Amino acid sequence: MAHQRTNLIGLSREELARLAAAGATPLRAKQLWHWMYYRGVTDFAAMTTLSKRLRATLADRFVIARPEVRQALVSKDRSCKWLLRFADGNEVETVFIPEEDRGALCISTQVGCTLTCPFCRTGTQRLVRNLAAGEIVGQMMVARDACAEWPSPEGGRMLSNIVLMGMGEPLFNYEAVATALRIIMDGEGIAVSKRRITLSTSGVVPMIRRCGAELGVNLAVSLHAVSDELRDELVPINRKYPIAELLAACREYPGAGNTRRITFEYVMLKGVNDSPADARALTRLVRGIPAKFNLIPFNPWPGAVYQCSPPGAMKRFSRILNDAGYAAPIRAPRGRDIMAACGQLRSQSMRVRAAEASMAC
Ligand code: SAH
Ligand code: SF4
Repeated sequence: MAHQRTNLIGLSREELARLAAAGATPLRAKQLWHWMYYRGVTDFAAMTTLSKRLRATLADRFVIARPEVRQALVSKDRSCKWLLRFADGNEVETVFIPEEDRGALCISTQVGCTLTCPFCRTGTQRLVRNLAAGEIVGQMMVARDACAEWPSPEGGRMLSNIVLMGMGEPLFNYEAVATALRIIMDGEGIAVSKRRITLSTSGVVPMIRRCGAELGVNLAVSLHAVSDELRDELVPINRKYPIAELLAACREYPGAGNTRRITFEYVMLKGVNDSPADARALTRLVRGIPAKFNLIPFNPWPGAVYQCSPPGAMKRFSRILNDAGYAAPIRAPRGRDIMAACGQLRSQSMRVRAAEASMAC
C-alpha cells in the first residue's frame, strides 16, 4: 500500500546513496535523481534507463509522491494559490506569482507559525508542525507539474525564482529547509540557482549566520519598525533578538555587496510605522549595509486591526529612501482576491473536496 512505501522526494543525495549502500535495493541514486528532479517523473515504470526488474523492485518499496492538491485558485492577476495536503492531513498554501516571462514561487516552511506578528494572518494560526524537506520540495514539484516545466528548462522558465515567504518562519525549521534547498539548487535536477532564491526571516539571528555560511541564498529581513519599542510589538521575536543584533548579522551576511543586497521588508501600516521620520530613521539604521527595501502595502484579512498606509504616505516614504540612495519599490499587491498576498495565508480556513481541485496555471 502506498502509505507503507517510503517517499523518495525530500531525501538528500547522501540519503539516497545510503539507501543504496545499505543494500535496501539496487538503487541507482544518480539515475533516480535525474528521473525525479530533472524529468519530474512520478512513475518508476517511466524510468526507461533502468531495467524492468529494477523498476518493479523500486515500485514495490518506494513512491515518488506529491502533496495532494486540495484546491487551486487563480487570481484576476494570474497569481495561483494551491492548498496542499500532506499524508497526515495537515495543510499549507503555496503561491505562484507570474510576471511577463518569469515568476516566483512562494513556498511555506511550517504549518502555521510559532511567532505571532499581529499584522500577519499566519500568526493567528497555531503551529501544527514543521514541514519535512520532502514537503517543502513537494511544493516546487506541484508547481512544476502545473506549469508543465519538465524536464528542467535551460532558460525561459516561468518558475524562475523561489521565495521562502509563505507560511512559517523558515529559520525555525532550518534543517529541513536546508535539505530542501540543496535538492532544489542541485544542478542535475531542479537546478534553481541560489541567486534566484530568497529566504525571508523575521530575524532569527543565530540561524541567519548559518544560512549565509551554508546555503548562500539571498536574504530578506522583515524589519517593519525602526525602534525596538515598536518592533517588540510588531515582530515579537525582536524581544529576543533586538534590532542592533539583527543588523549586525546582516552586516556580516556573506556575499552581500552592491550586486547582491539584503532586502529589508517593511509592511506599510497606516499611522503606525509610515511617517517621514520613520523613513529617515530607517536610512540611518541600515547605513553601511548593502541594502534595498521592499515596501509591502498591508494586506487586510478578516479580524486584522491594522490598515494599509494611504498611497501618498507610501510614495513619500519610498521617495525618502530613494533620495538616500536605496531602491525602495512599493510592491504591487498580488493575489489579494484569492487571499494569496503576503500575510494572508492560513491553511485551516479552507477545506474543500479533492474533486473540486483543478490545476490552472
Ligand atoms: N516568517 C517569515 C516569512 C513569511 S512572511 C517572515 O516573517 O519574514 C513574508 C512577508 O510578509 C514578511 O515580511 C511578513 O512580515 C509580511 N507580511 C505578513 N503579514 C502581512 C500582511 N498582512 N500584509 C503585508 N505583508 C505581510
Ligand atoms: Fe510568522 Fe512571518 Fe507571519 Fe511573523 S510575519 S507570524 S514570523 S509568518
